[in-house]
Amino acid sequence: MAFEQFNLDKRVMEGVRKAGYTSPTPIQERGIPAVLAGGDIMGLAQTGTGKTAAFLLPILQRLLKGERRRVRALVVAPTRELAAQIDEAANTLGAATGLRSTALFGGVNIKRQIEEIRKGVEIVVACPGRLLDHIGQGTIDLSHIEVLVLDEADQMFDMGFFPDIRRILKHLPAKRQTLLFSATMPDEIRKLASEVLHSPKAIQVGRTAPAVTVSHAIYPVAQHLKTPLLLELLKKNDGESILVFTRTKHRAKRLHEQLSKAGHKATSLQGNLSQNRRQEAMEGFRNGTYRILAATDIAARGIDVSQISHVINYDIPDTPETYIHRIGRTGRAARTGDAFTFVTTDDTAMVKSIERLLGSAIERRMVEEFDYSAPAPEVTQAPRTARPPRAAKGPAQKEGGPRRQPHAPETKHGSVKPRGTRRTSPRKQG
Ligand code: AMP
Repeated sequence: MAFEQFNLDKRVMEGVRKAGYTSPTPIQERGIPAVLAGGDIMGLAQTGTGKTAAFLLPILQRLLKGERRRVRALVVAPTRELAAQIDEAANTLGAATGLRSTALFGGVNIKRQIEEIRKGVEIVVACPGRLLDHIGQGTIDLSHIEVLVLDEADQMFDMGFFPDIRRILKHLPAKRQTLLFSATMPDEIRKLASEVLHSPKAIQVGRTAPAVTVSHAIYPVAQHLKTPLLLELLKKNDGESILVFTRTKHRAKRLHEQLSKAGHKATSLQGNLSQNRRQEAMEGFRNGTYRILAATDIAARGIDVSQISHVINYDIPDTPETYIHRIGRTGRAARTGDAFTFVTTDDTAMVKSIERLLGSAIERRMVEEFDYSAPAPEVTQAPRTARPPRAAKGPAQKEGGPRRQPHAPETKHGSVKPRGTRRTSPRKQG
């Protein structure tokens, strides 16, 4: 199958060539014609499937006709990183169309964003909080929106953004095309979908299962031996880029320091960093300055580094869905990847839940030369880094503090609402 069959304008096809895409991914094969047809879409697809181009290409095609220099397409995304990535993709894919895109997110000066909007853009990619700031200040006119995309809806729900989304919806024309994408489809997302979508066409790429190109393995290990085991595995795997997930910001930072000390080109991405430091870490990881990125879930959401070869769960995720999200970072767009998960005896129940969601058992591996019986050195036994028993752990402990949107500027409009009801068993999939 080729991109030519979509009959996209040659200016849009120029973008496809510029991005280096040769054939459409499954979500693009099914999503592009559906979006071009103009109806609402409910897309069940995770990051890494090519869903961004699946909605951007038909949007660009649509915007070629009609008025220029007014905001006609709005993409709402949960994190700055994801918004920046979508904006970048829109500018790459739309390079030959003359259409402009800009990203609006917190943590950076709003004046420059106002300036960009004033100059005239057709596509806006925004995080909910900052978009509401612009709406509140009257610096954006959303009355000409023709297409709305809600990307990573489940993540936006997890981050407490639904009240913000509902507020934003009030400023959009009722007559529009709405596309909703989510990697998982819990009841809350279905409810939002029933409110915002009209007779949607459902597009599902696989089940809520990771890309088949990813191979999974579990490494049982004691808490205090996680770093030595990671160092051992790093010796054996000369992967291109390795993304390591930790449970808290503090653990991401500490792991970054430990890896650097051991001579690895490592960095970290977590909510405590300034926007500049985050960008530097992301950019460095993308361009290969750093081979290893230690990150928390929220900081790493939607990260697109197409050459990630390994995702290592230094700490097991809190929910099976988060596992899917994490490993969605590897094996992207038909590359193969490995997903390793370190598990301690506390993690048995979560491993079962993940296996249930995957529909198969995950291979257990041991590293032969590794000394699994080494005693805990005193320094790594500090109580504040020890993992609390899972049963005692609530959502408020995520990222080492009250559950909140970690990107400070996004908290202004009530995005801090704790969710409090996060289930830890697999949800019904649909
Ligand atoms: P996404 O799921 O939209 O985050 O995309 C994941 C990665 O796949 C990004 O790096 C895209 O640039 C890349 N990609 C998207 N579509 C294609 C395609 N048709 N061929 C190759 N790579 C693609």
